[in-house]
Amino acid sequence: MPRVYLGLGSNLEDRRNNLLSAIGLLAQIEGVVVKDCSSIYETDPLGYLDQPAFLNMVVEIETSLPPLDLLDRCQEIERKLGRKPTVRWGPRTIDLDLLLYGEEKYEGERLTIPHPRLTERAFVVIPLQELGLDSLPGLGMATRELGEKLQRSQRIYLHTPKSEVKCLCWAVFSGSCTGK
Ligand code: ATP
Ligand code: MG
Ligand code: MG
Repeated sequence: MPRVYLGLGSNLEDRRNNLLSAIGLLAQIEGVVVKDCSSIYETDPLGYLDQPAFLNMVVEIETSLPPLDLLDRCQEIERKLGRKPTVRWGPRTIDLDLLLYGEEKYEGERLTIPHPRLTERAFVVIPLQELGLDSLPGLGMATRELGEKLQRSQRIYLHTPKSEVKCLCWAVFSGSCTGK
């Protein structure tokens, strides 16, 4: 099964709880197994600046669902967690983006994989590096190097370490909560 990476973000209401709820809902999808997650990071908004700071993270899953079906399931979770349509890159309770789907490249009306802005965002590149990706598709430099470069212009802070996220999501990561 392909290894798939999802980018999660929230900047409205209980931001961390929104991320954790999304992980719980992902784990309930038939054909999805949640394998790992990054720490949660706090970041300044990009694109549309007049809005609260974001919490972001990346979740690694294995799935038997084809990309468009997975997008449908992710958009259902966005609706379930109260995401309302607003300006582009505007505030949201939850955003779930398909970042990478194995080695696949896909370009359609509703979906582009890898995510087209993947390599521009510290809040995506740094969690992907944390999850062990040393390189990214179509990129001439190491993930670490790119992360360092992006951090010169984008602020990103550790909010909740991965070990704590796994304990908070004990139902999903039951075997991985170290209690630290
Ligand atoms: P960005 O994509 O820059 O992170 P966003 O996440 O705020 O912005 P959304 O409003 O969540 O954008 O999604 C807009 C549309 O993007 C969706 O309706 C979806 O069809 C499309 N889309 C294209 N590629 C992807 C992808 N890889 N992951 C998620 N949505 C995608
Ligand atoms: Mg997004
Ligand atoms: Mg999105």
